[in-house]
Amino acid sequence: VRACVLGSAAGGGFPQWNCACPNCRDLRAGRPGLRARTQDSVAVSEGGDRWVLLNASPDVLAQLARYAPLHPRGPRASPLAGVVLTNGDLDHCLGLFCLRESTPLAVYATGAVLRGLVERNAFCRTLARFEGHVVFRPLELERPEALCDAAGEPLGLEVTARPVPGKPPLHLAGEPPSPEDNVGLWVRAGGTGEALAYVPGAGALGDYVAHLEGAGCVLFDGTFWSDDELVRLGLGRARAAEMAHLPVGGPGGSLEALASLGARRKLYTHVNNTNPALREGAGERRAIEGAGWALAEDGLEISL
Ligand SMILES: [Zn+2]
Ligand SMILES: [Zn+2]
Repeated sequence: VRACVLGSAAGGGFPQWNCACPNCRDLRAGRPGLRARTQDSVAVSEGGDRWVLLNASPDVLAQLARYAPLHPRGPRASPLAGVVLTNGDLDHCLGLFCLRESTPLAVYATGAVLRGLVERNAFCRTLARFEGHVVFRPLELERPEALCDAAGEPLGLEVTARPVPGKPPLHLAGEPPSPEDNVGLWVRAGGTGEALAYVPGAGALGDYVAHLEGAGCVLFDGTFWSDDELVRLGLGRARAAEMAHLPVGGPGGSLEALASLGARRKLYTHVNNTNPALREGAGERRAIEGAGWALAEDGLEISL
């Protein structure tokens, strides 16, 4: 599997348009040790010819423009064949509606996420302008799925969606919760070899953790360093746990909980602009690096 981290920030990106927290302010001022990040998405391919996005962020057009393997190979001939969604949050789905220019795409997500996306959503008609334009296919939990393009041609990639504690997207708050609301994705080339495990949102640990063991690369929820990060900065009242993100630091944080995880490469992604670990040299960043983890960066290429 060839993969590229197209975006490594949580919803809002870094800097976030309406935020002047210390990180966003210092990044805008050009202080060293901080790098801009677009919103979370990963491109994956078997062989580099045709590609699939894991999540389609609101920054998708800039991300496609920046990564040459995703440039069109001829007039209206994009190598992009599909999108797999981890949940229905807008920062993971909104990019779909920016990809409406008549390239057939296969979109994979759990039944609950597909219903939330397609039902009562008039925007979806712009993705259904002709037969076979954007084809939605449900992913069943824990069942490996061989990805195919919109026409049914196999792409050489196998994806397994596993339930990860999460919640329905904000616009569906109050709907009954389902284990299909939020998943992690395990991607393998042709169903063999090492997996890329992509878990950009995790509200808690769970059975899925056992499957991170032995992965070639783990991309894990690095949204918040601490549970009260937004509260302490005066930016909001919600704690990380209420937003379904297990913090990285502190007792019970993912760094401690996953300390003995045996995966070849361990990266935090979906990093919120308030996370103090974004700052090179900060104690929080050194704790991550000292534990054998790293922060994913936009443009980081991974091969398995
Ligand atoms: Zn997100
Ligand atoms: Zn900020």
